Amino acid sequence: MKWGLIGASTIAKEWVISAIRAVGDDVIAVVSADDQRAKEFAQSNEIVQYSSDINALLENPDVDSVYISTKNHLHKEQALLAIRAGKHVMCEKPLALSLEDAHEMVKAAQDAGLVFATNHHLRNAASHTAMRQAVQSGLIGKPLAARVFHAVSLPPHLQGWRIAEGAEGGGVILDITVHDADTLRYILNDDPVEVTAFTQTGVLSKTGLPDSVMGVMRFKSGLIAQFHDSFTAKHADTGLEIIGTEGTLVARNVMTQKPVGEVSLVNAQGTRKMILEHVNLYESGFRQFGEAVAGRAQPAATGHDGIWSLATGIAVVQAAQSGRATPVAHG
Ligand code: NDP
Repeated sequence: MKWGLIGASTIAKEWVISAIRAVGDDVIAVVSADDQRAKEFAQSNEIVQYSSDINALLENPDVDSVYISTKNHLHKEQALLAIRAGKHVMCEKPLALSLEDAHEMVKAAQDAGLVFATNHHLRNAASHTAMRQAVQSGLIGKPLAARVFHAVSLPPHLQGWRIAEGAEGGGVILDITVHDADTLRYILNDDPVEVTAFTQTGVLSKTGLPDSVMGVMRFKSGLIAQFHDSFTAKHADTGLEIIGTEGTLVARNVMTQKPVGEVSLVNAQGTRKMILEHVNLYESGFRQFGEAVAGRAQPAATGHDGIWSLATGIAVVQAAQSGRATPVAHG
């Protein structure tokens, strides 16, 4: 399969181009809003076609699929254009800035018979898949609670729109909390219904955008999940715990882009470390996307999953603003 990149982004450069190539696909075109950036990005990443005009990429009949990793406010329009041009879409999270827009994107792809996926890479981690299997096989009994530790230090080269531009979809919630929501949905096979949250700002963000958030999600099953997401935690480990009636899954160093981390099962018999076969999270996502295009599988995270994580993120934003528990308005 041949890919076009919509967005000359850091994530494309650092992770996605190599993942696409590692699974045997090729990257043949890139579009940036800026001519010079498009050219430099193409040359430094060995991409043949570059342009500041999205139509040039979309009119290339050799491009089968597009990967959208522009700033968040641009995803919707670019996805709709790509779908109209008959391209399959792997879109970055958050899919859009409103649920209506996300629904429109996913429906457009569905109506056109095209694959639409969300790049929620954390589902592809060996750690989270082992936790999902442990929950499904009843190893911890009935899951009652979860704790997500996703407080990290935003590197200086990413301290731009993420901490400054609400209109472009910045802020820690649409950046990180959406990943928590998706990872919990994947592990628990359950959906969030209501959230509460408090935010903090001013440590990195000088525009009032939240750069840290703590809150609680309540799931359909009754499970409650506590989350801490941050751009400002310089010396904190990430982790995820699922506490059940018969045992607890304790995962450390797992809310990350890297194929690393550990998971232990703690129960009446003691503590047992699970055996994990780590894989590149992005390669897994793009390999499965290829299977979806071939009609053999669903994407690792579908458009529907992207709508759920966005709905949860928007509810967390609203809960923090209002100070009240807020329903997750997925529909
Ligand atoms: P970047 O800020 O690196 O890229 C976003 C846009 O900013 C690019 O499309 C580019 O615009 C512009 N840009 C990038 N670098 C420069 C520069 N040096 N000077 C001027 N403009 C620049 O963001 P990320 O790569 O971190 O994030 C992009 C998207 O990917 C977001 O939606 C984010 O949420 C998502 N993401 C997902 C991750 C995951 O693991 N699933 C991880 C990280 C991000 P143009 O294309 O017009 O040149």
